[in-house]
Amino acid sequence: MTPTGKDLDLRGITKLFGGYTAVEDLALHVPAGSFFALLGPSGCGKSTTLRMIAGLEHPTRGKVLIGEEDVTGTKAHQREVNTVFQSYALFPHLSVLENVAFGPKRKKVPDALDRARKVLDLVELGHLAQRRPAQLSGGQQQRVALARAVVNRPHVLLLDEPLGALDMKLRRQMQIELKHIQEEVGITFIHVTHDQEEALTMADTVAVMNAGRIEQIGPPGELYDLPRTAFVANFLGKSNLFEAEVLGGSASSGDLTIRFGDTSCSLAAERAVQHEGSIIVGIRPEKIVLSRAGEQPSGDRAGWTCVTGGRVNATSYTGVSTEYEVKLPGAGPLTVFSQNLRTEVLAAGTSVDLWWDDANL
Ligand code: ATP
Repeated sequence: MTPTGKDLDLRGITKLFGGYTAVEDLALHVPAGSFFALLGPSGCGKSTTLRMIAGLEHPTRGKVLIGEEDVTGTKAHQREVNTVFQSYALFPHLSVLENVAFGPKRKKVPDALDRARKVLDLVELGHLAQRRPAQLSGGQQQRVALARAVVNRPHVLLLDEPLGALDMKLRRQMQIELKHIQEEVGITFIHVTHDQEEALTMADTVAVMNAGRIEQIGPPGELYDLPRTAFVANFLGKSNLFEAEVLGGSASSGDLTIRFGDTSCSLAAERAVQHEGSIIVGIRPEKIVLSRAGEQPSGDRAGWTCVTGGRVNATSYTGVSTEYEVKLPGAGPLTVFSQNLRTEVLAAGTSVDLWWDDANL
């Protein structure tokens, strides 16, 4: 199928409800045919943003563009945008096929049923076309809801927590399927979620929202490895954040020498958002290697920073990995994830050293 998606541009959109600012001066560009996720905690303004794209809510300020066209003043039903909600809102008295064909039939598309059958095949429900929604599982109903939106060939498809009603295992499976379907149809997908794993798994680009604003936009790997704010670092999985002091170096002279507690290490200047005074440094729990105090961990650790004097506070074994809480003298506890690859599980109370490559700070 040829891509049918269009670019989406939000230009400084703001939404006030009375005196309350739900979305503030939000700007973003989503290229045609990409999978874009709006990620953030409850109440940060994700759904309000989506509703402004759909035309269900009017921005107080700013513009919404689909392709080159300014649709800010266009009514919802005149925008080539469809929305899939968490509640699938299927017609209970119609068959799966009739549910999917409903939109094209209403628009008097001559091959409405054929189109509906093709889209049902795409979501692998062709064999259930004659069933009623009540005779389907949650995941199957979700796919009917998706098919019903895709069949209209919108330029932009909005997904508001569409997997929220599914159990974890089905949810993970549907994430992969949804991504696959998006690649097939080439429609621009805007997906709203508060689930960071979901956003990282599915989207080409993720915008992290906080209190009505975008904190950072980027590809999943960049947001995870190079968060620009403590909020982004914490929202996208666990991060160990420390307050540190810059001892030397500057943005122009290469690496910075930084110190927290008794440890000094080096931070690549391009990784630093701020270069002077007191800074926040972060390291992901899986980037730290633990060893028994005074022992060298396996592998080449040349040039790695070693922090001594740690003590395991708590150990939780999860099968694939073990999560440790480690207390350092004069610092808050750190979290360390260790893959269980022939390594022993260290019990609470064990004295340990922590090792990391400064490139991961
Ligand atoms: P969730 O994940 O819980 O759905 P969200 O990020 O989608 O949250 P929004 O639904 O966009 O958040 O709401 C953003 C803020 O705007 C919230 O504080 C909410 O209470 C407020 N809000 C949303 N709609 C209205 C409304 N119609 N009138 C007044 N306040 C509203």
